[in-house]
Amino acid sequence: MADLDFPLNGQRVFVAGHQGMVGSAIVRALRGQRRCEVLTAPRRSLDLRRPERVESWMRRHRPQAVFLAAARVGGIAANQSRPAEFLHDNLAIASSVVEASRKAAVGKLLFLGSSCIYPRLAPQPISEAALLTGPLEATNEWYAVAKIAGVKLCEAYRRQHGCNFVSLMPTNLYGPGDNFDPESGHVIPALMRRMHDAKAAERDSVAVWGSGAPRREFLHVDDLADACVFLMERYADAGPVNVGSGQELSIAELAALIKDAVGFRGNIVFDASRPDGTPRKRLDLGRLDQLGWRARRALPSGLEETYRWFLAAWIETGPERSVRR
Ligand code: GDP
Repeated sequence: MADLDFPLNGQRVFVAGHQGMVGSAIVRALRGQRRCEVLTAPRRSLDLRRPERVESWMRRHRPQAVFLAAARVGGIAANQSRPAEFLHDNLAIASSVVEASRKAAVGKLLFLGSSCIYPRLAPQPISEAALLTGPLEATNEWYAVAKIAGVKLCEAYRRQHGCNFVSLMPTNLYGPGDNFDPESGHVIPALMRRMHDAKAAERDSVAVWGSGAPRREFLHVDDLADACVFLMERYADAGPVNVGSGQELSIAELAALIKDAVGFRGNIVFDASRPDGTPRKRLDLGRLDQLGWRARRALPSGLEETYRWFLAAWIETGPERSVRR
């Protein structure tokens, strides 16, 4: 296992984006695994897109480590319909938090990129070296361009200012705290929601977008949070690190697993009028493996747990009151 670079015990640690799926999982991991002071700032009191507000917040709270998990996120349809928001908000969040962290002399920052920022037709499995070697997938290029800028900001601040800023590239995520909106959500929560609704209304079929052929690798968000804590403490190099589970399957196979988790008994119908997106984006996990970290949660049980969370948080308390990104 890689040596300790920045132990979190005893530190003041800011989780930017703690109301989102990833940020809330990082907060859970820190509270469960480390004795550190976790700092958070609700969206309504701190707009992370505004540099002067972030700088003044940092002057007041003096974090020593920053997890930059805040982002405007969404599935394939949301990316296509709101390109300006996806590009602008993610650029603004990355540049304000990174610059404010430098000014506040933050000792370590971990930025979350995404596997969708690799070229659409990158050789599989995708290694970190594939970044910026080819054209992006058109359905999420707005988000991808902003996230690439964030990764490069960390590299540039390391080079010019000597800041210990690192970045990681998570594969497709799922788990508690996800957005279960059937239109704007990612594939797992969207299908869970539509199958749940179809079961409740006794409908006999549910539409799955595209051909069912694209392949994706899925990582439980609590595994990602464990990896974030691990890399914050042990990784201190310029390049990003891929974080995945190695569990890759087709969307058709995934839909069958979600059907089991939800207990929906109808048919799955593929809707070819909806986009497939990237054909495949399996990550090369060699660097992560060498550092000494592996995902622990299996997809079928992770899906069942996520469905239970959905039933408890989303259905019982109502969408507006549950955690969402
Ligand atoms: P992506 O990895 O950025 O494409 O993330 P998504 O989660 O939005 O989509 C993953 C794959 O699932 C794509 O091939 C989609 O076409 C497919 N998919 C099937 N049904 C759905 C759905 O209801 N919502 C979303 N978002 N994707 C779906």
